[in-house]
Amino acid sequence: MADYVPPLRDMRFVFSRLLDGAGVDDDLLDAVLGEAGRFAAEAIAPLNAAANKAGCTRHQDGSVTTPPGFQEAYRQYREAGWGTLALPEEYGGQGLPHVMATAVEEFLNSACHAFNMYPGLTHGAVAVLEARGSEELKAAYLPRLVSGEWLGTMALTEPQAGTDLGLVRTRAAPNADGSFAVTGEKIFCSGGEHDLTDNIVHLALARLPDAPAGSRGISLFLVPKILPDGTRNAVSCGAIEHKMGLSGSATCAMHFEGATGWLVGELNAGLAAMFIMMNAARLSCGVQGVAQAELAYQKAAAYALERRQGRAAGSAEEADPLIVHPDVRRLLMDARAFTEGFRALVLWTAWQIDQGNDDLVALLTPVIKAYGTDRGFETAVAMQQIFGGHGYITETGVEQIVRDARAPMLYEGANGVQALDLVGRKLLRDGGQTVERFIALVEGQCEDADETLGFLATPLLEAAHEAREAALWLLSQGKADPDALGAGSYAFLQLIGVLTTGWMWLNLAKAALPDAGSDPFCTAKLATARHYALHALPQVSALRRKVEAGAEALMALPPEAFLRD
Ligand SMILES: Cc1cc2nc3c(=O)[nH]c(=O)nc-3n(C[C@H](O)[C@H](O)[C@H](O)COP(=O)(O)OP(=O)(O)OC[C@H]3O[C@@H](n4cnc5c(N)ncnc54)[C@H](O)[C@@H]3O)c2cc1C
Repeated sequence: MADYVPPLRDMRFVFSRLLDGAGVDDDLLDAVLGEAGRFAAEAIAPLNAAANKAGCTRHQDGSVTTPPGFQEAYRQYREAGWGTLALPEEYGGQGLPHVMATAVEEFLNSACHAFNMYPGLTHGAVAVLEARGSEELKAAYLPRLVSGEWLGTMALTEPQAGTDLGLVRTRAAPNADGSFAVTGEKIFCSGGEHDLTDNIVHLALARLPDAPAGSRGISLFLVPKILPDGTRNAVSCGAIEHKMGLSGSATCAMHFEGATGWLVGELNAGLAAMFIMMNAARLSCGVQGVAQAELAYQKAAAYALERRQGRAAGSAEEADPLIVHPDVRRLLMDARAFTEGFRALVLWTAWQIDQGNDDLVALLTPVIKAYGTDRGFETAVAMQQIFGGHGYITETGVEQIVRDARAPMLYEGANGVQALDLVGRKLLRDGGQTVERFIALVEGQCEDADETLGFLATPLLEAAHEAREAALWLLSQGKADPDALGAGSYAFLQLIGVLTTGWMWLNLAKAALPDAGSDPFCTAKLATARHYALHALPQVSALRRKVEAGAEALMALPPEAFLRD
């Protein structure tokens, strides 16, 4: 069996029937998706298992060697321009829609998530520099980041500053020539050191000596590994983390020892600037969730057709393939419903970026990040279940997917914090207007849906009403009682995740309807939509009840009561 088959038909279906071709000529779309899928499957996917085994090596001098094959794969990636698709033409990019780059990102993450961690942050780095960098920094760094000659990193986290970046201690002292001397310890820096490019461009958070305390005193600096005069900057890799998964991706502890850096944007406005990069990266996490789920699904579906255990009701065989068992079907249908529905949601959201629909993108970003990565991981675990005990054995490859898929739930802001972003910044801040606009959009489509789609439109309409009730409850309780808001935040994020995926299923089912019966692909879409209506949407009522349960039971115990006697 192939390591990975790019889901080209599904991707094309979303582009042509949901996104109206995304403003791209059909031939170009086919050529890019076809070629990117081929590259991912043939050049990248064969590296995945070996990279997991080999991991990365840090040497005495602080240099880091990536797994065998990564250098050559990155050379091919650069040469083909896969990283430049949606980057600005002004700096050498191809200026294609974000939605195309998002599709390609899914292929690459399914093929080898660890490999894609290296170029993965560069498009966010380009976006920050484009928006906030000085003309000098843009001229010096953007063309080489866009071309992939250099790669970018995000150096935020410190031992005492994870979620709460207001606690960052790294210092930046002004130099006479307008640059800054950056000193401090960063941890968990993905691609902080590697052997894929000659230069690595760190975007690091630090504070000036006289800066206000907390998040209002943080500034953003560009700190290159190699300085413009060709000398080595005082930034180095002290260690690489030994992780649960993604071992082919070097997660580095970085020492900044008076390293020369340049301010990006305004002084003390570094966190807001960094959010440009983080928001791009959060959407990429959702893509990683779908990508891992897709890969696990492909392996499990093939296994379920081949492995014979037990018999179907009334079967005369000695043993039938696993696929005959309804409980195995449940796992596979859940996986199809998530991967296809969420893929459509991620692509639709990327398309909204291209159209400048910022409010909806901002609303959906934490949902895509957290719901997408939670369900991506859960799907990987469910697919491992189909392998029985063999799923626990390294050889089948599915346990690697489980380990790799766990990481994006934690990085770019752990998922619980995404839920707080959803209820705090996205719901409360504008008094619920954007959420209401979104719910009304879903309701409108349910009401307009063809009668044949009633099996989905009717429960989806009910789910949208429940979402509104949950939002109103949070709006009414949240301002007075922050604990109630925090307590209900995760269930609310999940509720919106189930609702938005269901809304995408309505769109997919509508698009498939004319050809259902004649085209097996479209027939399968309708069957999966039906599964979603019956098996996923019922969660909404329970989630609403959890939102409205409040904080009392959660906060009842004093902290010391959590420790066992
Ligand atoms: C594989 C990997 C790669 C990474 N790559 C990078 C990188 O490239 N650059 C970088 O800077 N960092 C990176 N990180 C770090 C990552 O972004 C942080 O681990 C993450 O932001 C969480 O910080 P923390 O680990 O300190 O957890 P903490 O902040 O200690 O949080 C622990 C738990 O408490 C919860 N929590 C914290 N505060 C609150 C609150 N106010 N309300 C409710 N719940 C809360 C969190 O949700 C989390 O579940 C990476 C991490 C990993 C694992």
